[in-house]
Amino acid sequence: MLLTTMGVVIGERAYGENDKFIDVFTKDHGIIEVTVKGGRKLNSKNAAATALFSYSKYCVSKRGERYYLNSSEIENTFYDLRMDIKKLALASYFAELLKYTVISYDSDKAYEIILKLFLNTLYYLEKDTHDIMLLKSIFEFRLLSEIGLIPNLIGCSVCNTFSHAKMHFDIQNGKLYCDDCFSGFDGNNTLAINESTLSALRHISLADLNILFNIKVSHRLLKELSKITNRYVIVHINRKFKTLEYFESIS
Ligand SMILES: [Zn+2]
Repeated sequence: MLLTTMGVVIGERAYGENDKFIDVFTKDHGIIEVTVKGGRKLNSKNAAATALFSYSKYCVSKRGERYYLNSSEIENTFYDLRMDIKKLALASYFAELLKYTVISYDSDKAYEIILKLFLNTLYYLEKDTHDIMLLKSIFEFRLLSEIGLIPNLIGCSVCNTFSHAKMHFDIQNGKLYCDDCFSGFDGNNTLAINESTLSALRHISLADLNILFNIKVSHRLLKELSKITNRYVIVHINRKFKTLEYFESIS
């Protein structure tokens, strides 16, 4: 059976003398592992399209449960990401987080939006248009929102107030409390947040993808945002990512 699909390479492994496996996150089929015969030969016609982060149209044949690459047409290689060790490390973490969450959660309806989120994040990372810590917060928080871990940020979960100078975000349960309703429980996973941080979190989790990256944050807000999204991943995903540890070690 022949399939043609758009996808991005989020992992690669050597296999045999000249072959390799690539993990491709596709719009239509989620993550598929594709065998690339001769993919490690210097003159391989698919070399660029099967490199990490390449976004291409892939024509594959499916035999049994396995996919084999027939041909490819490159759309974007994100080549410049590879020229900067910090960007490469962050993009590798995004790929690892994406792979783990897409496989572990019920996200088949969101493939198209998650693919667009990933590609847009790589695009802005490559182009240097945003602080890379802001891109990290956006990618982490929006990805988790898309796979079903979206918190209720509409208002206080007791009195429904939308806005209050001081709110508290219960990260574990994904709930907000205004300062009047908050009774001071669970210090570890409940963080105080101000109005601008809350509005940034609302934007990241809910905004249309076309305007998602139209967000400006102060240095101070970015620190708050990073603290929250970082914690949100730790609490909900509960797994160590080697690529994240590496990124943190060089940041
Ligand atoms: Zn309240």
